[in-house]
Amino acid sequence: MLNIENINFKGKRALVRVDFNVPLDENNKVTDSTRILGALKTINYILDKGGSCILISHLGRPKEKNSKDSLLNVKSDLEILLKKSVVFIDDCVGLKVEEKCKNLKSGDVVLLENLRFYDEETKGDEIFARDLSKLADIYINDAFGTAHRAHASTTTVAKYFSIKAPGYLLKKEILAIEKVIVKGEKPRLAILGGAKVSSKITIIENMLKSVDELIIAGGMSYTFIKALGGKIGDSIFENEYMDYSLKLIKKIKNQEKKIILPEDVVCGNKFSNDADVKICDVNKIPDGWSGLDSGPKTLIKFKEAITSAKTILWNGPVGVFEMDLFSKGTIEVGNFVSEATDKGAFSLVGGGDSVAAVKKFNFEDKVSYVSTGGGAMLESLEGKVLPGIKALD
Ligand code: AMP
Repeated sequence: MLNIENINFKGKRALVRVDFNVPLDENNKVTDSTRILGALKTINYILDKGGSCILISHLGRPKEKNSKDSLLNVKSDLEILLKKSVVFIDDCVGLKVEEKCKNLKSGDVVLLENLRFYDEETKGDEIFARDLSKLADIYINDAFGTAHRAHASTTTVAKYFSIKAPGYLLKKEILAIEKVIVKGEKPRLAILGGAKVSSKITIIENMLKSVDELIIAGGMSYTFIKALGGKIGDSIFENEYMDYSLKLIKKIKNQEKKIILPEDVVCGNKFSNDADVKICDVNKIPDGWSGLDSGPKTLIKFKEAITSAKTILWNGPVGVFEMDLFSKGTIEVGNFVSEATDKGAFSLVGGGDSVAAVKKFNFEDKVSYVSTGGGAMLESLEGKVLPGIKALD
């Protein structure tokens, strides 16, 4: 795979697939520009090296062309952040666009209209992709959040370019995944939490190939505890995954790896922030009570494993972090991961709710990397090669 830094952009036009799928308010104003900020490094690099940028993205899930989903809504924020003017074209393919993109000068930035105004985009259509490719000399993909989709602008288009590479944001995600899965220093640890075993099976199986230790926490741990004969009261569990849990524990032990399950839990007598709470042994939860957060003894065990790990993947909260009453465990795990990172470990927080938790409790700057792509990160952790990344090879 080519590196963006090995490409000569001088006098060349780069078609840059960015992720400008930003939230908008009722006046179509951008309410969170994180994704625009994320693309700046790649855009500025290309401009600094004498190239021009043609930016393409999707926004929302439009059924037809409309002003709410127009990328024109993003233009002024992009101009402010980029500190330069941007030309918006109200289409993304066709003769008019080709004509305007033909004579771009070094340093020019063009923003094209929402790719998803064409059905062909999500279908991965060949002709649409070829039409996009006519606009530029070089293809850069910097949209990790859609790299798991074989869409025209993320996958099909790449074959029409001999010079193509990931942008800085995509590259960072690729390196972070590589590190936790294959290259990270040992001991490697995965912290898997969240509600259900069923939604994490493929991740658990894939992570087992590379980690030395596995923490299973949060709602999904009760399926394991019950399968092992524990009494879990009214805690959530999945009956149909009990056998699987037992087989998995056996497999982990056969591979001489370590599985760490909760020892005690914070229980509530209802699923609510004003519930009565008590600490219970995880195997002796009374009926009428549910385990909703990690208990103090559990957190000591988690701390030991987390702060001595050198590579950490964290996917899924270890309690119902949305409620203050049951958020302590997740906050503590965030503290332990931060402490390990501070001591030199590499830590990746990826996929779904753990990212929301890390943002909520301000750990973003204290861990090595927080993934920007929910579904794309989950599929990577499951061991899939994402079509958008494969297409750059
Ligand atoms: P996931 O999307 O699978 O990572 O699941 C995240 C959700 O799991 C969050 O909304 C948490 O509130 C929930 N969760 C974590 N621990 C528990 C628990 N012990 N009981 C019920 N839900 C939980």
